[in-house]
Parts: sequence; C-alpha cells; structure tokens
Amino acid sequence: MATKKNYYDVLGVDKNANADEIKSAYRKLAKKYHPDINKEPDAANKFKEINEAYAVLGDEGKRANYDQFGTAEGAPNFGDFFGGEGNFSGGFSDIFSDIFSAFGNFGTSRKNRMEKGEDINLQMTISFEEAAFGSTKQIIITRNERCDKCTGTGAKNGKEFSTCNECKGSGRVRFTQNTLFGTTIREGVCKTCNGSGKIIREKCTECGGKGSERKKSTISVNIPAGIDNDQILKMQGQGNAPVREGISGDLNIKINVTPHKILMRSGIDVLLDLHLPYTTLILGEKVEIPTVGGTTELNIPELTQGGTVMRLKNKGIKMLNRDVFGDLLVTLKAEFPKVLDRKTKEIIKSLQKDTSINLFPKYKKFNESKK
Ligand SMILES: [Zn+2]
Ligand SMILES: [Zn+2]
Repeated sequence: MATKKNYYDVLGVDKNANADEIKSAYRKLAKKYHPDINKEPDAANKFKEINEAYAVLGDEGKRANYDQFGTAEGAPNFGDFFGGEGNFSGGFSDIFSDIFSAFGNFGTSRKNRMEKGEDINLQMTISFEEAAFGSTKQIIITRNERCDKCTGTGAKNGKEFSTCNECKGSGRVRFTQNTLFGTTIREGVCKTCNGSGKIIREKCTECGGKGSERKKSTISVNIPAGIDNDQILKMQGQGNAPVREGISGDLNIKINVTPHKILMRSGIDVLLDLHLPYTTLILGEKVEIPTVGGTTELNIPELTQGGTVMRLKNKGIKMLNRDVFGDLLVTLKAEFPKVLDRKTKEIIKSLQKDTSINLFPKYKKFNESKK
C-alpha cells in the first residue's frame, strides 16, 4: 500500500486536538471537497483522504490505535479497511446524514465491498503500573487465518477456480424490483458464488476449500500508557480471516486493571488517603509517601488540619495518547492512639486546660452569642 499521509495533517489539526476540534475540522473540509460541490480533478481523492482520516481520528478507539502505532501501516492490515473505491465504512454516517442529506444518494455506491472476518473479543488483566506506564504483552490466540497455500481463494494452488458467470466476478448482482413507487434497481450478494466472485473447480488440499485455517498465533499487544479499566484496545485486522478473500476482523481486548494496594485512580488523577499520627499533623514532618511507580517526600506543615487535601502536580497518570499528566491528591487523615495510657491522658488533659490552644474559636463565639 502506498504511504499514507499523517491523518492529523490531513485534517489540519494538532495531535492534541479534542474530539470537537477534529469533528469541526472534518466538517469544514468535507464540505469544501465534496465531489458534488468541488469540481477540481483532485477533489474526489482529497475527499476520500479526509474521510479516511476522520474515520480513524473521529473514533476514540481507532485514534488510540493509530497514535499507538504511529502510522496506519504500523499495524498489519490497518488501513486496508478503506481499500475499495467508494467503500466508506461506518462510524461517521451520523455526520454524513446531517451534512450531506442535501446532496442526495451519497454513500449508496458500495461496489467492491470486501468481506470482513469476524472480530475476536477477549479480556486482559494488567497491573496498575502497566496501565499507568504502558507495556507490551504477548498473548496466544486461536483464530482463523488465511490459508497461504491458496492465498485464501480456497482453490487448489490458488488457481483452480474460474470467475463466476452470474456476477462476472464482482460477487454482487443487480436485480430489478417492482414497488409502489415504480421499478427500482437493487443490488445484493450473488447467490451462485456466495459473494466470492469465484467458482472453485478443485479445492485446496490444505484448507479443504475454506480459504482459511484455525491457527494458534502469538500476538504482541502494545498497551498504551494511561489506559483505564474497561477500555477496549482495538487491533484492526488481528481478528478472524473472512471466509474466502477479504479483510480480517479486529481483535478487541477489554482491559481489566488490578487495583493498587494503596493508591486509587480517578481518571488521570490518583488519590491517596494518608493516615498520619495526629501529632505529625500538629507538629509537621517530612514523610515518605507512595506515588505511581515510586515514592516521594511530602512536607506536612505545622498545624495541618485533618482532611486537608494536598495536590502534587503531575504526579498522577499520563493521559492516554497525550503528553498530559494528572495530579496526586493526598488527603491527610489524623490517626489517634488506640489505647490511652494514664500518662498520655494527663498530658492531653493539661493541654486541654491551656487557653493558648483555642481550637474552635468559631463555635466558641457561636455558643457565647447564644448565652
Ligand atoms: Zn457470483
Ligand atoms: Zn487453502
């Protein structure tokens, strides 16, 4: 496949652009280059390019995949999805309908529509740190893979077939239908060849004519830093090969993140409930606290109130596909002794009598005003 342009450049948006910015850039360009409006010779190509870019960047999962692999070619089969001319895939039909409804039958031309294999859906459990920093994991999956011996045709040596006479190899046939509104021409899958466009004369000995085989494969999964629980990693083209020729389905991996023993994640921020002796909160102290992937020193100032939240900038989790980090929010909790011995009790009592410690001036004032 020819080298593709960077999708961000195609839409003229920044790599950090948000969903609205991407949508708006796409709308502008799609209107400008729609072949029904723009009669310049390159408009149709440009239009296709814009749609390709938006089909990826406009979909959170696909965009993550694209960012992860750097280029569309980085992942096997990635981008092939848009192979056939006029074969625009779903995902942005909502936008199409609202921009292009005025232009009539756009999107009805679906010639050369390729068959797509079934998706494989599975789950993967990763640690808190793996989600925060990203990692690469090898997994073994069993899937239908294209038979190399017949190159997916199902015919012996990939040659022993002839073109279907019924559909002339296109796999689709047109037929006329009489309706209340008159005669319409419809298109459907050719029943003679089941849409393959080919009639097998002699079956492939390897796959018995199926064109694909069940195989165990080791797949390398790139887990991007910042992925969160329940997010789905989509690996395009890593699913099952289709029956006969076409493109493979996708491998969808649902991520389960094992909780951290102490830290709690809230989006890109990380929360820590830090239980400290009440004496530490009164006197102040430097304490070592756990952070994402390490520890850091936190300076507790003198007379810090219980419940105080200290924010440690950029000590949280990296945002998925962005160079932005969340914060670590430390909530300070006062811990009291579980047992009160006589000596401690005496000391506390003496403190209580000390009028220089006026812990609740607000309530005192309130009480006095009621007298
Ligand atoms: Zn046919
Ligand atoms: Zn075969």
